[in-house]
Amino acid sequence: PIYFDYAATTPVDPRVVEKMIPYFTLDGIFGNPSSRSHYYGWKAEEAVDIARKQIAQLIGAESREIIFTSGATESVNLAIKGIAQSYHKKGKHIVTSMTEHKSVLDTCQYLENKGFEITRITPQPNGLITFEQISNALRDDTILLSIMHVNNEIGVIQDIKKFGKLCRLHDIIFHVDATQSVGKLHIDLSDLPVDLMSFNGHKLYGPKGIGGLYIRQHRHPKLHITAQMHGGGHEHGMRSGTLPVHQIVGMAEAYRLARETMTTEMIYLKKMRDRLWQGLQQIEGILINGDLEYSIGTLLNISFNNIDGETLIIALKDFALSSGSACTSGTLNPSHVLQALGRNNELAYNSIRFSLGRFTTEEEIEYAIHHIAATVMKLNAMIYLL
Ligand code: PLP
Repeated sequence: PIYFDYAATTPVDPRVVEKMIPYFTLDGIFGNPSSRSHYYGWKAEEAVDIARKQIAQLIGAESREIIFTSGATESVNLAIKGIAQSYHKKGKHIVTSMTEHKSVLDTCQYLENKGFEITRITPQPNGLITFEQISNALRDDTILLSIMHVNNEIGVIQDIKKFGKLCRLHDIIFHVDATQSVGKLHIDLSDLPVDLMSFNGHKLYGPKGIGGLYIRQHRHPKLHITAQMHGGGHEHGMRSGTLPVHQIVGMAEAYRLARETMTTEMIYLKKMRDRLWQGLQQIEGILINGDLEYSIGTLLNISFNNIDGETLIIALKDFALSSGSACTSGTLNPSHVLQALGRNNELAYNSIRFSLGRFTTEEEIEYAIHHIAATVMKLNAMIYLL
């Protein structure tokens, strides 16, 4: 099947795989970077230092501001729980949105059960959150705002710079889930009022099981985050556990490649996405979810009147697509994101997400337009006959 599910995960770029291979075996660099007494440890530590710098470079951060984790879910947990546990005496109020990834929503739910108060903003029908909505939600006892940069289901881009400025003004910590935007949109943390940022390797042609948390160092007062993983005191005591050097090197190579290719790749993918929508919009009863103008150029989320999303996905078995988000598509719940935008249950069910990536070709887009239009027509005709 043709792969249109890059927002769920990406294939690892062969150049990344090649870079990782020497980091497994005795004749390569397999050592523990915490082994400070011998060559094997030093070489591994050196590789981690270089990788950390490459990752920091893509997002305009300093090396020491990056903590390695097992992925964005862990980064989000460390950021939100870590802040809640460090600042609960200052306040117990956290602001987020209804359209966040489950890792944010469930972490906030966990904290709510522990006595924190959570305000969940409902975005506008196009998925965007306004400055006024954030401003109205903040209170004297708010300690944290957590908003995603790019939504994983509909692709809308939030104005994190504006939200961050507001947080600075009120001395509120700002966490951004940038899992879907790192390496796709220009992010320069030296010029962005963001305190914490979560990201991973596998959405950007790197390996799974590796991610990072950016923690701003130049901040007054200094940030304190309570560790969630205890042990050998790795990563300045913030995240214990032996560093997976091969994964880190892989993610760094993926980020280095993104820095080189991001601009041209995004122009190309936006062109492909726009062509896809142009071709599909002729289909009767098709609706777009989100807002193409304010969305990342790799994603298209559509709903159909009358046709069940799951039925459509089965009928479109030549394509690897997602209905709602991958994390919830195993269940029968309609997408929480589309529901939050005011789509009724039927339209939220009847949605499919195309997400394009580095290996998407023009031929695949043309084939998809042709094939999907024909399939929908056939399904519509069957419904008509019933
Ligand atoms: N946040 C967003 C917006 C995502 O799309 C994902 C991936 O599904 C995550 C967080 C979780 O990332 P990971 O798979 O690295 O835990």
